[in-house]
Amino acid sequence: MTSLPAAMSRPPASVLVVEDEPGLAEVLSENLVEEGYEVTVAGDGQEALATWRRQAPDLVVLDVMLPNLDGFEVCRVRRAEGDATLVLFLSARGETDDRIAGLQAGADDYLTKPFHLHEFLLRVRALLKRSQPAAAQRLAFGGHVVDFRTWTARLADGSEVQLSERELGILRVLAERAGEVVSRDEIMDSVWGDDTFPSSRTIDNFIVRLRRHFEPDTDAPVHIHTVWGVGYRFTPEASPAVTSPQPGAAAGEEQS
Ligand code: CA
Repeated sequence: MTSLPAAMSRPPASVLVVEDEPGLAEVLSENLVEEGYEVTVAGDGQEALATWRRQAPDLVVLDVMLPNLDGFEVCRVRRAEGDATLVLFLSARGETDDRIAGLQAGADDYLTKPFHLHEFLLRVRALLKRSQPAAAQRLAFGGHVVDFRTWTARLADGSEVQLSERELGILRVLAERAGEVVSRDEIMDSVWGDDTFPSSRTIDNFIVRLRRHFEPDTDAPVHIHTVWGVGYRFTPEASPAVTSPQPGAAAGEEQS
């Protein structure tokens, strides 16, 4: 039995090129194919969105000025849907405002036209290298993208925050079981392990900190929900609290 070298056994990274100028789209796509990537091309914003959703590429090369829906909007929509795919923006506009808008829309990198093909290919390679295995290391929700390797999060408003190990740990446990109720005990077990026993109050304090980062309104959380007397439930898509808080009942449950 022969085993393939690691580089060969891994499937090629897939790249979605979104560019409405056919000539440029062709040059980019041909060169990416030569580099060994699997390439799909989309020529406008709506098509880009549909293809991105359907194919779940590893990287999206996204032109800003597009028919139907511009690149910023396409990226914003996918980020809001919880997608953390790497995005490299291409734009003829090199103004600072556009760079900022690109980063706010959730871009990972930004290249201004005209650019050298060589630089383009290097950026693509660098992004994909940095990202493997990307999916497990990134979490996108509500327009935020959390990176578990760099301990940072890029927030929906474009700013960046540093997260602590515990904050990341709690977020990961909740996100892995998105939609389910995760008890404080379960959070304790997986984030603190067997050695230390934080009080449930400590966990609640970490939740408060996470909400300050990620909730548009900390008094009415739409992602990190309290399930009274039990624990917490995370929803990547913004949803108002389902379990209506009943402080009376919750107190009773906690004592039982
Ligand atoms: Ca264009």
